[in-house]
Amino acid sequence: MRPSIIIKTGDITKEKACAIVNAANSSLMGGGGVDGAIHRAGGSQILEACRIIRKEQYPDGLPTGEAVATTAGKMPAEYVIHTVGPIYHQCDGKCAALLASCYTHSLKKAAQLGCREIAFPAISTGIYGYPKEEAAKIAYEAVKCFLDDGHTMEVRFVFHNSDDKEIFEKALQHS
Ligand code: ADP
Repeated sequence: MRPSIIIKTGDITKEKACAIVNAANSSLMGGGGVDGAIHRAGGSQILEACRIIRKEQYPDGLPTGEAVATTAGKMPAEYVIHTVGPIYHQCDGKCAALLASCYTHSLKKAAQLGCREIAFPAISTGIYGYPKEEAAKIAYEAVKCFLDDGHTMEVRFVFHNSDDKEIFEKALQHS
C-alpha cells in the first residue's frame, strides 16, 4: 500500500487535515449522516458559505459527482469539500463513474487550494445505499490514479466504525 494513503477509523469532523470531504446532498443545505455531523461541528459559517455557492454558482443544486469548497468553520480542518455521491438505486449504469468523479473532483479541488492532506468519508455508502465493497474499490482506484499522476497529497480514508474499515481493506485485497 502506498504510504500516502491512510486507512483509519474516527470522526471526520475531528481530522486535522487541510481538507475534509462532506458526502453532501445536492441542496448543500445539510442533511443526515456525515453531512449533519460536519454542519453541527463546523457551525453556521458552513451553511452561509453553501448558501452563497447555491446562489452564485449552482441555483439548481450541486450536480452529482461535482465538488465545491467552503470554510470548515470551527473544525480543525481548513476547508470542507462538499461532493454529491450517487444514490445507488437511481444511478443505473453510471454509478461507478459518478462515485469515482466525486473522489477525483474533490482531490482536484484540494490540490487547487494548495492542500497536502485530505480526509474522505465513505461517500454514498450510508443513506445513499452504495454497496460498501464496490464503493471501496472505486474510491481506492480513483485516489491511486490521482496520486500516480504525480500529485503529492496524503489521502485519508476515515471510517466511522471498524467494521466499515475492515470491509474496505478486504475489498482491496480481493481487487
Ligand atoms: P451518503 O448519503 O453519501 O450515503 P452518509 O452520511 O449517509 O452519506 O454516509 C456516508 C458514510 O459516512 C457512512 O459510511 C457513514 O457511516 C459515515 N459517517 C457518518 N458520520 C461520520 C463521521 N462523523 N465521520 C466519518 N464518517 C461518518
